[in-house]
Amino acid sequence: MKKLVYTTTLFLLMFFACKITLAQQPQFKVLALYSTNVESDHVDFAMDAIKFYSNMAKAKGFVFDTTSSWENLNDDKLKNYQVVVWLNEFPHNQVQRSAFEKFMINGGAWLGFHVSGYNDKYTKWPWFVDFLGATFYNNNWPPLPAKMIVDDNTHPATKSLGKSYVAPINEWYGWKPNPRDNKDIKVLVTLDPANYPLGKKDIIREGDIPVVWTNTKYKMLYMNMGHGDQIFTSPEQNQMFEDALLWLAGSR
Ligand code: ZN
Repeated sequence: MKKLVYTTTLFLLMFFACKITLAQQPQFKVLALYSTNVESDHVDFAMDAIKFYSNMAKAKGFVFDTTSSWENLNDDKLKNYQVVVWLNEFPHNQVQRSAFEKFMINGGAWLGFHVSGYNDKYTKWPWFVDFLGATFYNNNWPPLPAKMIVDDNTHPATKSLGKSYVAPINEWYGWKPNPRDNKDIKVLVTLDPANYPLGKKDIIREGDIPVVWTNTKYKMLYMNMGHGDQIFTSPEQNQMFEDALLWLAGSR
């Protein structure tokens, strides 16, 4: 009998020790990069996004690290992470760009918001243009809420959305070439043409404007939301932000 009690106690101890270890083990690690010396509306978004994803990380049990030093975009640092997020900026030098390319080619995941996808003839990073499948063309001003068409609500990132929803105030970008024309791009959400003319100072009058998409050659997702301090005011859009990160991290 004594032996049985001893064995049972030992078993229970081992069981709980094992459970505690599992609970402490983060499911995955995310590194979010941002800048503080950029447009103030883009800094506001980054601060809100850090709050949002840090809370989510606590609730779901993953690591959400943040840095405003883009020097951290290097092989040594990136090998510790499964997902890299760019909140309001993109790398400007070749060393950081090469480290990111290597990370993505080797199966890393990327989530980019708003201006992090910006590229034009001056940014001179052809690999990124191919990766994103789009180049900045135009924008509306001032920032406004807009109706969204959900192209695909079977995708893990957009599965909680209906066929359409109204996205909170944002500055919306148009793209040329249109990412939809790229065979590797899958568009998930599009700006509803019913919004046109959109803007007062800068007006988007027409065009097919994808807002959320993925390049199927990589584990990546771009979302055009990311301007100002109202982005996280829509529960349904917030759900997409959560689902997107979990999908990229491979946990759904
Ligand atoms: Zn902006």
